[in-house]
Amino acid sequence: MTAFHCIAIETETAARFRATGLDDRGNPLRRIIAMPGGGYPCRHCLRLARPGEAMLLGSYDLPKPLGIYWTPSPILLHEAECPRSDAADEIAPIVRANPLVSVRAYDGEHQCLYDLGHVCAGAEIDASLARALDDPRTAFVNIHTARPGCLLVRVERGRGGQRLVEDESGLRLISTDPEPVASFRAPRARPRTGAVGIETVASLDRAPTSLTRPGTPRRPRRRGTRRPGADSSSPRGRPVL
Ligand SMILES: [Zn+2]
Repeated sequence: MTAFHCIAIETETAARFRATGLDDRGNPLRRIIAMPGGGYPCRHCLRLARPGEAMLLGSYDLPKPLGIYWTPSPILLHEAECPRSDAADEIAPIVRANPLVSVRAYDGEHQCLYDLGHVCAGAEIDASLARALDDPRTAFVNIHTARPGCLLVRVERGRGGQRLVEDESGLRLISTDPEPVASFRAPRARPRTGAVGIETVASLDRAPTSLTRPGTPRRPRRRGTRRPGADSSSPRGRPVL
């Protein structure tokens, strides 16, 4: 398989979530204690929480793709500091452990390459990920949970934010971040007025009512444009894997 790197969320983002108790959309984070049975993937250390560990649930603005395919995603994060994952050529443990993941490949213009999309068990992702990374059109791949659609990790060739290229001087790494998309204006997260920070719930399974309030999702909006179909994908009430 092409050399690759699973890219966790930025440490700055994790530190900001923990310090402010607010997510990228200005929602108070939900505090969840991991229960036995798994299903609590930290997007910073890329490991599943152990039972009893405190996790924070919030909305994260994906750095890629920008433009038409941009989306925020619910993510879980260890409440306590954890090391940012930094392993090359290794499928992230939170991907391996997930029963059903979605591979989404994008080109250099951040357009989704539908023909490379694939849904499979995380334990069996190698072939579909290799197919996406080996395709010369692919600039990066996002892996989501297939059922609720939450981002698990971004995958790029070579090291994070860099790509291996071969020219007359041999193999070398070039930077791939940031990749400008001229037509995209990133939505700004606005803190909620009167936000009180982290809310505590016992678990995802035991507090479904709490999970559906009060966070009215803030949707990205480009000035002067319509958003057909934007109201059809509310995350309300969905469990987060
Ligand atoms: Zn962690």
